[in-house]
Formats: sequence, C-alpha cells, structure tokens
Amino acid sequence: MNQKKPILIAGPCSVESREQLHDVVRSLAAMPEVTMIRCGVWKPRTRPGGFEGLGEQALEWMSHEQALPFCCEVILPDHVEAALRHGISTVWIGARTTANPFMVQEITEALRGTTVQVLVKNAPSPDVKLWIGAIERFRKAGIADVAAVHRGFDVFRNAGYRNNPIWEIPIELRRSMPDIPILCDPSHIAGRREPLLNLSQTALDLGFDGLMIEVHPQPDNALTDALQQLSPTAFRQMVDRLVVRQTDSRIADQELRLLREQIDHLDNQILQLLAARFEVAQQIAHIKARENLTVFQPKRWEAVLSQRLAAAHELGLSPDFVKHLYEAIHAESVRVQEEITNIIVNHE
Ligand code: PEP
Ligand code: MN
Repeated sequence: MNQKKPILIAGPCSVESREQLHDVVRSLAAMPEVTMIRCGVWKPRTRPGGFEGLGEQALEWMSHEQALPFCCEVILPDHVEAALRHGISTVWIGARTTANPFMVQEITEALRGTTVQVLVKNAPSPDVKLWIGAIERFRKAGIADVAAVHRGFDVFRNAGYRNNPIWEIPIELRRSMPDIPILCDPSHIAGRREPLLNLSQTALDLGFDGLMIEVHPQPDNALTDALQQLSPTAFRQMVDRLVVRQTDSRIADQELRLLREQIDHLDNQILQLLAARFEVAQQIAHIKARENLTVFQPKRWEAVLSQRLAAAHELGLSPDFVKHLYEAIHAESVRVQEEITNIIVNHE
C-alpha cells in the first residue's frame, strides 16, 4: 500500500501586495502537488516596528483568487471573524498562540459551530502537552478537522537551525493522538533555504502527512522571513527531488519481522545491562557515603567519557550520540547515588 499523497501547503510568509499574491498563486496553481496556499495576513512580530501584515486588505485580495484554497494564521477572535467573512476554510494557530491556553480558548469560541479546518502549530517551547492541550481545546469545541504542524522548538541548542526540530516531540504527539494528521513546516525550523530539502525528506520518512513551506516570488525582497522563503522555481525543484515512500508492504513486513525480533532481543539485553550498571553504581554510593566522598567525581567522569568515546570510535558509533547517551547514564547514576546518600544521611 502506498503512502497517501502528502498534503502540500505552500505560499508566502506574508501577503505584501496584490501583485505578489497573484504571482505566487499563479506559480503554485501550476503545480498539481500543491493542495493549499498559505498566506500570512496578521504577523505577530517579536519586536515592534516591523511589518505586521495587511490584515483584511489581504483577505479581500485572496477572495478574488480562485485557483486553490487558502489558509491563514488567526491570532485574535476578530481575525477568525474576518477570515470567515472572506471565505477562508482553513486557519492555522501560530506557535506563540499555542503557548497561551487562554488565547487558544478564545479562538476556539470564535470557531465554535463552524466547519473550519484548524492547523495547530507547536508552541516554541519543547512541551508536547501544550500542543496536545491546544488540539484538545479545538476538538472539545466541536471542530472535527484538526491537524498539527511541527515548526521546531526554540531551545538553547538549536542544532544550526532557527528552531530545533526535536523529532521525538512530534513522534510523541503521533503516539498519543494517532488520528491527528501531522504536517511539518521545515521553513520555520530551518530559518534558511539550504536545509529545506533534507528536513522535508526526514519529515516524509518519519511518516508526516504533509508539508507547509514558505514560497515567495522574490524571496530576497520579502518583508518577513526573507532568508527562508523559496522562489517558486526552487520550490518546484525541491518537490521534484522529494521521495514519497511506502508506509507498509506485505513483503517488507515479513523481512522486517525477523529483524525486529533481533532488535527486541538486543533492547532487552541493553536494559538488563543498564540495570546491572545501576546496581554497581549503588554499591559505589555506599562506599562514597561511608568515606564521606562527593557523589560527583569530575576526574572519574572525564575518564569514563573519554574511554567510551574512544571505544565508540572503534565501533563506528557516532561520537555525538555516545556523548548524549553517557551524559544521560551519568546523570541518572548521580541521581541514584544522591538518593542513597540522602537516605543514609537522614538515618544518621
Ligand atoms: C508563520 O507561519 O509565518 C509563522 C509566524 O510561524 P510560527 O507561528 O511557526 O512562528
Ligand atoms: Mn514566516
């Protein structure tokens, strides 16, 4: 069974003029893969004084373009009413709005009783519960057609992107809300053009249901997000290079079953080894407590990490991965040892 055709939403970060809108609509309407056009109409800017969108004027121009359906961001209940008046049938909730449950609630009230489709972007902080919570609010208000949009997270380590993708979070959303389609917005993850193809391919390989990508007729002159928007030509080339893979196949299933049994077995061994390792760490904690030694021993930690990294290198494992893994194991060891030390101290 082939993967369904991915949903492909594309369009400018912001509507800037009637000509710019018309140009981009003409280019996108010529691409059969494009399902909907995104248009920023109200732009919540981090600092005052920037271009904040053309509001209803843009909606008015959009209502005269018939080639494809549009979606736009709504931030206030008034925006919902204006969008509905101009025939918009899909709206999206921006990252900053999702972060604020009161604002989400107000928008749900404005949408109650309509058949509007709602796309909910994740909040900037890496907290899947805020994302789930916003989706739940729309569903409780009777909005049946809700999808999620992954636009990355604003965290201390952004991994060279504007927003770190932290793929585990949308994967967790899928696990807890399996019936909610998830789109990826690689434009706001990347913040620049170069990583867009790779990010989009990763999203499709992870089983995302579609993509939302910023496309502008003249990206370098864009009033917002100039660095990340693609020209229609670059977008066309990117879409041509994307590979849509199958989500399942009976033949592959049989081959995979045997390999997955091996993975399950190896994972059980990893867990048993970890349990044994923490047991040894507990014995060490008793000796440290008896000898009045600090739980954290920087020299020992340095030696462990450098030996493990050397071994990882020999084994062809990624040093970054092994470093993360050992940081997690060590942090847990320290926590377990602290717990034992505190129990001993409290009993004295
Ligand atoms: C946008 O889509 O143009 C936008 C402002 O995105 P986000 O809410 O993800 O920052
Ligand atoms: Mn944008």
